[in-house]
Amino acid sequence: MEATDDMHLPEGRPSPQDATLPAAVFDPARLAAVHSTGLLDTEPEEEFDALTRLAAQVTGARRAFVTVVDDRRSFWKSCIGGPELPLDQRQNLVHESPCHLLIATDEALISEDARQDPRIRDVPAVEQLGIGAWAGVPVHDRDGHVIGGLCVVADRARAWQPQEVQTLHTLAEAAGAQVKLRQELGRTREQAARLEALAEAEQRLRAEAEQRAAAAAEVADRMRAAAAQQVTAPRPEHCQLGGARGCTAPAEIKIADSWGDAAWSCPTHAEEAIVNVRSVFIASEELGGLAAYLNR
Ligand SMILES: [Zn+2]
Repeated sequence: MEATDDMHLPEGRPSPQDATLPAAVFDPARLAAVHSTGLLDTEPEEEFDALTRLAAQVTGARRAFVTVVDDRRSFWKSCIGGPELPLDQRQNLVHESPCHLLIATDEALISEDARQDPRIRDVPAVEQLGIGAWAGVPVHDRDGHVIGGLCVVADRARAWQPQEVQTLHTLAEAAGAQVKLRQELGRTREQAARLEALAEAEQRLRAEAEQRAAAAAEVADRMRAAAAQQVTAPRPEHCQLGGARGCTAPAEIKIADSWGDAAWSCPTHAEEAIVNVRSVFIASEELGGLAAYLNR
């Protein structure tokens, strides 16, 4: 029976209240773990296909799967022994897949005659996939969540030998080790991205602070130079920039704007004016000014 070819996923998701599905399927911590593996909707990989090949070889079952089960579907990360399927058809609905039973019990389910077994006979995949005998073992993530299963499917009812079941447990552990590696990789990538963002922010802040310090130092230098130069120039006794309230600080610096307005100021008010009035500059005689140019 080749029922897999027309197993498209219908729109919508089963309700969390769906009484036919175990609550463990919808456990948010388990679902977060499933997504943290980064395995959903990914192409087949040799790391997992090697395990299903070995599972089929050892047990003599025709088909073997590694599934990753979220709250909606059982995605077949590896499926061997069936028809070649495109990525979007390598899955069935969660209630249709026997793997949801592994999540409910967190135990292996070894069924010698699936059509007669009350634990599994009503699961739609038994008819859809023509399952005669089914053996599945939970695959765990690093925190012990069941993220899916490693399972083998025989076309007819048959017995599973204890050493075959033991091998399935070992292979499920190997699949779990792969899952943990993927989770670690994801976590390392996240940490690296966070560190990089932090380093960039620190660099930006440092550059801004350096710019501000350089600008402040330049203003201070200019004020000192101007004050030194104007120490002998004629000027009023007090700062002229105190506004209505006046300023009793000594006049030390002459500032001006490009229209020729000028005032004598204390260093504090000079800095305030330079910061707040765009065209204001320190009127320094250092270079001789326009008068020197006119008289050249
Ligand atoms: Zn002043």
